[in-house]
Amino acid sequence: MKNIYFIGECMIELRATVPSTLHQSFAGDVYNSAVYLKRCFPKITTSVITALGKDNLSKKMRERFASEQLNTDYVFAHNSKVPGMYYIETDEQGERSFIYWRDDSAAKKVIEFISPELVKQLSSGDMFFFSGISLAVIEAQARPQFWDIVKQLKTAGVKIVFDPNYRARLWDNVEQTKAQYHSAFSLADITLPGVEDLETLYDVKSVEAVIDYLAPYNINEIVVKNGPDSVITKEAGIVQSHKITPVKNVIDTTSAGDAFNGVYLGARLDGRPIDKAVELAAQAAGAVIQQPGAIAPKDVFQQAMAK
Ligand code: ADP
Repeated sequence: MKNIYFIGECMIELRATVPSTLHQSFAGDVYNSAVYLKRCFPKITTSVITALGKDNLSKKMRERFASEQLNTDYVFAHNSKVPGMYYIETDEQGERSFIYWRDDSAAKKVIEFISPELVKQLSSGDMFFFSGISLAVIEAQARPQFWDIVKQLKTAGVKIVFDPNYRARLWDNVEQTKAQYHSAFSLADITLPGVEDLETLYDVKSVEAVIDYLAPYNINEIVVKNGPDSVITKEAGIVQSHKITPVKNVIDTTSAGDAFNGVYLGARLDGRPIDKAVELAAQAAGAVIQQPGAIAPKDVFQQAMAK
């Protein structure tokens, strides 16, 4: 049985619907990826590693994880913190705006819960996924311990997977981000960057430039996403371009990259070749952007994937 871990933060989402009404759900990049992986590959044990609180919304979030068949053994409950939260509003032009309350969230403390015994347990897994958002959320003083955990897992044979997912507002400055991303690229076996993310940080403006930028690192599998444009992969030195069929009626691109990542990694764990994995991942991302919000209704998603 294959086994993947997603470490990071899931937040309480408050979405403004009709005036004065809020719809409450849960979302966060690594959680979104975990959900879509599990929906497409139910046999793969998919775990979320995070910290929540002991409040009612934390309880509901854990229940939501379980209802998506995610393993909650590594969802920890902090004594005094609560989950992060964000508010999202879409104006008449379709522009989204966000307000976040996540600077003091329980997830920032997740490393406190990862004991040496737990690292030993995790060492039997197949993949360990973290994103640039996971990295930014982990408190600066806990990051050396995080890297130590990643190194131990890599040494044990767990594949390290990194999506840069750059969010400027979560970092103190660009130098800090670059130093952390250097460590991430140095340890990654698989990376799934979007061109936009790396353009802001390293001034690389095309999929080819991203591949060149990453060449000095020893990353076996590189998957570069670029919205509706072709996905470029490089595995064991072989570069391939994969055509994406553009979606005409895009409703909301939230979590396109997350869905892509989850389904791609599920397909790879399931033994599919790169081109098939990209095809499935793009199909999933294409379905997700035709629905509002990060998590598409299960039945609508399953129908889109059955085509
Ligand atoms: P992110 O959400 O990380 O910014 P991208 O915007 O690059 O990621 O999109 C991730 C994937 O979602 C793309 O590789 C593609 O498969 C799919 N996708 C995004 N936008 C479109 C679109 N307009 N039409 C079809 N597929 C899309």
